[in-house]
Parts: sequence; C-alpha cells; structure tokens
Amino acid sequence: MLEVTDLAVSYGGLRALAGVSLVVGAGQFVTVVGPNGAGKSTLFKTISGIVPPTAGSVRFEGEDLLAMPASRRAHLGIAHVPEGRQVFKAMTVRENLEMGAYPMAGRHAWVRMLDRIHTLFPILAERAGQFAGTLSGGEQQMLAIGRGLACAPKLLMLDEPSMGLAPAIADLIFDRISQIHREDGLTILLVEQRVAEALELCDRGYVLETGRIVLEGPYEILAGDD
Ligand code: ADP
Ligand code: ADP
Repeated sequence: MLEVTDLAVSYGGLRALAGVSLVVGAGQFVTVVGPNGAGKSTLFKTISGIVPPTAGSVRFEGEDLLAMPASRRAHLGIAHVPEGRQVFKAMTVRENLEMGAYPMAGRHAWVRMLDRIHTLFPILAERAGQFAGTLSGGEQQMLAIGRGLACAPKLLMLDEPSMGLAPAIADLIFDRISQIHREDGLTILLVEQRVAEALELCDRGYVLETGRIVLEGPYEILAGDD
C-alpha cells in the first residue's frame, strides 16, 4: 500500500534521513521506533508532503505521492495524526470530529466512523458538546486519533500518540489502536519512542537511528533481539 524508497531529507546541513526504505502492506500494522531525534517525525512529514525530500520516492497504491498536488493527495485516504495531541481547542469535541473529516469521508462513511469512534472512546461521546481545550491530555490524544479515524482512511499514520501521557493512559491508547487494526483491518503506520509497547503491537517493525534503518523484521525477530 505504502512504499518508501531510499528517502533522504536534510535541514540545511543536517541530514535527518539518510536513505530510508520501508513497506507497509494493505492491512498491516507497521511500527517505526527510535530515540528522540532519530528522524521519525521527519519521515512522517515527508510522507505527508509537509517536508520535501532531497532524494527518494514515496508511493501509495502505486502512485507517486511526492509528485502529485496536495489537493489530490488529500483525497487518497491517508490520515496523519501528528505528534502533540493536535486538536482545535476552541471548538467542541463534535466539531473537531467534523472539521475536515466530513468532506473527506463523505456523509455516509463519516456517520459510520463517528459511531465507531464513540464505541472505541466513549468519553468523546460524553464530552461531545464540550470545548476540546477542557479535555485532559489523554482525552485530547483520543480526540486527535478520532479526527484521523473520522476521515475513514485507508492508512492511519500515528506520530508518537503516547507522548507525554501517563503509562496507564498510553496503554489504553495502544489497546484501542490495536483493536482498530484487529477488528476493522485498518492499515496502520505508527512511530513511537516507547519501543517495547509499540513493537508488541505490530506485524512488522523498523528501528530508526540517526536517520537510518538499523534493524527491521517481524515482531518475533525484533523481540528476540533484546
Ligand atoms: P514552523 O514552520 O511551524 O516554524 P519548523 O519547520 O520550524 O516549523 O519546525 C517543525 C518542527 O520541527 C517543530 O515541531 C519544531 O519544534 C521542530 N524543529 C524545528 N527546528 C528544529 C531543530 N533544529 N531541531 C529539532 N527540532 C526542530
Ligand atoms: P524524531 O521525530 O525521531 O524525534 P525528528 O524527525 O524530529 O526526529 O528530527 C530528526 C533530526 O532533524 C533531529 O536532529 C532534529 O534536530 C532535526 N530537525 C527536525 N526538524 C527540524 C527543522 N524543522 N529544522 C531543522 N532541524 C530539524
């Protein structure tokens, strides 16, 4: 479904990615782990078209993502949940789940996804009319994931959804992500600093260090390595 080949990115003189390749098959759960500064966010931002690469290619269902206009990329079915619980704080929970998603998914799919989001995160139904800024950090992260799901995507990309959360809340969020993958068959690409928890969820994992993939394989192989 997603094929990243020999991707290189520089910020001025700093090489953030130095030839990264990875593949996400349809229906797979793929995780990229690595320490702070490894290039995880840069990888996501390049796939999303936010940061331009100096070399390499990104293909989604065979199409060159980097060559197409943003207006077209927006309709391919890739949802990117950025790091840092990005929600519209001055809008209600319900408005957050509508914004952008409703036009992208279409009414029918959006209504179905809203129902699913409320099943996964009942708190978002309870707090539908409240401003997102009044939610706790964990609830805001659930809402950020909900915003991604509301687009009814083919591929859900999650950038460090556990960042800054208490371990119990992070575990709950990982559980829900895993549930979406198992029950809905959604294709997921997750980047995380919490290595053990994130690798446990995936079919296939990549370890990124200073802009390079240093290890890759199915969970059984990566887990056997520590
Ligand atoms: P903006 O256009 O919003 O100012 P930037 O391109 O400056 O965005 O930054 C994008 C992201 O990268 C932000 O999260 C920012 O904090 C981070 N960032 C910017 N410069 C650096 C840097 N030198 N090292 C690490 N992170 C950086
Ligand atoms: P991670 O997500 O794994 O923490 P990043 O992709 O944010 O890593 O950063 C990779 C490298 O690029 C780091 O050395 C970081 O300081 C640098 N970097 C990230 N964003 C910017 C930016 N906007 N401008 C300059 N350097 C950046």
